[in-house]
Amino acid sequence: MRFNKVLEDIKTYEAGKPIELVVREFGVKPEEVVKLASNENPIGTSPKVAEVIRQNAEKAHLYPDDSMFELKAALAAKFDVREENIIIGAGSDQVLEFISRALLNESESVLMSAMTFAMYEIYARQMGAKIVRTPSYEHKADEFISAYKAHKPKIVYICTPNNPTGDATAKEEVLRIIEAVESDTLVVVDGAYMEYAAAKDPKYAIVPNDLMGYENVIYLGTFSKAYGLGGMRVGYGIAQGSLIKELYKMRPPFNITTLSLAAAIEAAGDNAFVETSIALHQEQIVRYEAFAQTHGFDYIDSYTNFITYLFPDAMDSTKISDALLRRGVIIRNLASYGMNAVRITVGTARQNDIFFKHFAEVIG
Ligand SMILES: *Cc1c(COP(=O)(O)O)cnc(C)c1O
Repeated sequence: MRFNKVLEDIKTYEAGKPIELVVREFGVKPEEVVKLASNENPIGTSPKVAEVIRQNAEKAHLYPDDSMFELKAALAAKFDVREENIIIGAGSDQVLEFISRALLNESESVLMSAMTFAMYEIYARQMGAKIVRTPSYEHKADEFISAYKAHKPKIVYICTPNNPTGDATAKEEVLRIIEAVESDTLVVVDGAYMEYAAAKDPKYAIVPNDLMGYENVIYLGTFSKAYGLGGMRVGYGIAQGSLIKELYKMRPPFNITTLSLAAAIEAAGDNAFVETSIALHQEQIVRYEAFAQTHGFDYIDSYTNFITYLFPDAMDSTKISDALLRRGVIIRNLASYGMNAVRITVGTARQNDIFFKHFAEVIG
């Protein structure tokens, strides 16, 4: 069968390996597997949210409230915006897909940093759009502005904090890029890890209201990281009503589930869980920094719930990741990004102990 030509240039997204695979292939006991590959919340699901999911189990035969009124009201209150400014997706991934389908075609291009969230490229390629990247993985305003002027892309992606590198872009720099872009180009500010950056340094904190004055900017957030709901698939986009109205034309009905909706409504009000998650993270990430220093390699200062280790030539990220995998420790190899580096989600104290032990053995 002949598929659409655009598919020839698309590499399937490589998700973090699941626990089941390690159990099956390497015979590691499930309780001994440590998964630090997908930036999930290591604390797990908030008990309050888990209880709500259980209570809603018997409503699984009902379609969810398609207006998502309660969830939008909760987000509107949290971010001091109106319901008409919000669109909900099955993960913020789905909002990225709506954006791509609403704006791109074969004659358009998109602009992003040298190394950033893989789905921007995949969704753009699905529409046949061209990909333009800045030279640096960091989001440098000067690089973005000159690439914007040279290529006039339809969408500019700013991932801050950035995945898979972990660095963040100061609010001032983000606004400088936005100011340089004309109104026919959409700027996407993807704040999937914003809660972690905001807690580390307010200079990097961006809230939707910082961007609401621009008709061509959308802020994306997710319940998958700090809120601990990766498995529920809920994310959101916040922008001026005129933009949200167009994106709604791309949305299938009932795009999140009855259980996901109930979980997200509960999670949106559960600030204590987010605070606990961030406190644990801050306590544990310093161990990763010290570990790198002890073993003589570099890392990128992280504003996210993961850390990126940069290896010297004598250490091979693929060999190290594979050796760890056989021991039941799943991390993310960044070789496919052309980097001799690994990305590790900062886990619980116990998970991190296991990681450090195996890692030291593997490199020793
Ligand atoms: C995790 C992540 C998302 C979205 O995740 P969903 O689970 O689809 O909400 C978006 N952008 C970045 C950079 C991410 O790391």
